[in-house]
Amino acid sequence: MQAYYEPMPGETFDVAIIGAGITGTMLAKDLSAYRARILLLDKENDIADGATMANSAIVHAGYDPEDGTLKGLLNVQGARLYESLCRDLQCRYLETGAYIAACGEEEEKHLDILKARADRRQIPCEFVPMEKARSEEPALSDGVTKVLSFPTTAVIYPWQVAHACAQVAVQNGAKVCLNAEVTAIEHADGLYRLRTAKGDFTARCVVNAAGTHAEAVARMVTDEPGFRMTPRKGEYYVLDKDAAFVRHIIFPVPSQEKGKGVLAVPTVYGNTLIGPNSDFVDDMDDPGTSVDGLKYVRDNIGKTLKNVPLNRAIRVFAGVRPTSDRPDFILEEAKGLPGFINAASIESPGLASSPAISRYVIDRLILPRFAFEKNGNAVMTRTAPPVLNEMSVEERNALIAKNPAYGKIICRCETVSEGEIVDAIRAPLGARTVKGVKKRVRPGMGRCQGGFCEPRVVEILARELNVSPLDIVLDGPGSWILEKENR
Ligand SMILES: Cc1cc2nc3c(=O)[nH]c(=O)nc-3n(C[C@H](O)[C@H](O)[C@H](O)COP(=O)(O)OP(=O)(O)OC[C@H]3O[C@@H](n4cnc5c(N)ncnc54)[C@H](O)[C@@H]3O)c2cc1C
Repeated sequence: MQAYYEPMPGETFDVAIIGAGITGTMLAKDLSAYRARILLLDKENDIADGATMANSAIVHAGYDPEDGTLKGLLNVQGARLYESLCRDLQCRYLETGAYIAACGEEEEKHLDILKARADRRQIPCEFVPMEKARSEEPALSDGVTKVLSFPTTAVIYPWQVAHACAQVAVQNGAKVCLNAEVTAIEHADGLYRLRTAKGDFTARCVVNAAGTHAEAVARMVTDEPGFRMTPRKGEYYVLDKDAAFVRHIIFPVPSQEKGKGVLAVPTVYGNTLIGPNSDFVDDMDDPGTSVDGLKYVRDNIGKTLKNVPLNRAIRVFAGVRPTSDRPDFILEEAKGLPGFINAASIESPGLASSPAISRYVIDRLILPRFAFEKNGNAVMTRTAPPVLNEMSVEERNALIAKNPAYGKIICRCETVSEGEIVDAIRAPLGARTVKGVKKRVRPGMGRCQGGFCEPRVVEILARELNVSPLDIVLDGPGSWILEKENR
């Protein structure tokens, strides 16, 4: 039951959401609590393949954005909603806490400003005596002179949250159509006609949640979108699990020029991220890393941390921030276009703010114009499939007794069984590609990066999808893995 939607020509929806990142999927989930026909469209072959897939994964507590901004308001609100949201969606949520490490007097003054702002916003925080800070985090560099702790800062697996949101939306009747790039939009008679790679759709309301492409999408209906996208790339190292060397997220003091700076982030799966840099880019979809970008990360992590085990990196990756020439989130109806809503410029803390962004868009922008009724039958929770790694020996044995496929380990680095891979393929909005399986249940995320398990994943995908292994792709259309059969 994969539940991907294949379009019926000319179908009309109440709300079409362009972009299935965290902004679009969260909105689709929350809107699915109403009696509205919802369509979630994305140009890629899977959910959330944009900024939502490649970032620091931090639920920032909300002390960083300036007063009087939407970012400031929605980050604080969103962060407070996350823990219960992750409980409802059965997604990972790990409250690591964060240390902001100042080096010298000037930076210490900035910590005082952040502390005062956090106190005004009732965000728990405290200065940690240096002796205690160093005993908790022995890798703090010798130059660190003062530490401000934010104990409620957490990490999540952003892709998992977005996918779970989309699954809830589908469970409540929303349609999800992938490989459906929106290429043109016409506005006539109170309706928006969307031309996509999968056919044409009509909708009364359109939400432009297209990330780095939000300006291009807005320009499909107006010459004056009111913002210009100026995307910035961030690159990271991923360290092996047994090279974990920090317990908290370690931030330098943020600055106007460098943003949040280069961080060390423990992930929900036990790896550590080191990054990011922040460089303007022309290609909004380029996920590539660069020699210079990674050098910047290496050169700058040493400010707050010493003995960083970068020689234990198992992978590098990059994400592109949907930054615009306006410094705040853009959540507004486009000028002269009733029901066309831009949810644009959702740069950091977009992830942390997303539950509140969604409420803001629904309560302030959609419901006043389209008075959708609540759907009393909507189910807003999700049951995640079993994860062997999280079970006791007794629980595993019981599961294997019911289905021996859970006893067949395919990925040894991450201990992923055949049963879990099959679940990932058969689930609503299930995996159709090798990378899709990797994002859902992690074969290929470990030390060998798929060197051993990938051929087995290809076989399982081919069997479950009832196609030839030659048809299985790594990720996007055309990214085949096998060329031809030999003897
Ligand atoms: C390096 C980096 C670090 C970050 N760290 C954090 C952090 O720690 N905490 C935090 O809160 N935030 C962080 N962020 C910001 C966060 O990742 C973003 O705010 C968030 O992911 C934006 O989600 P989105 O859904 O708006 O955009 P996206 O996830 O980019 O989704 C947009 C979607 O629109 C689709 N699309 C585009 N054009 C079209 C079209 N024409 N037709 C159909 N579909 C289309 C794309 O395929 C994509 O899936 C970080 C971002 C980056 C890049």
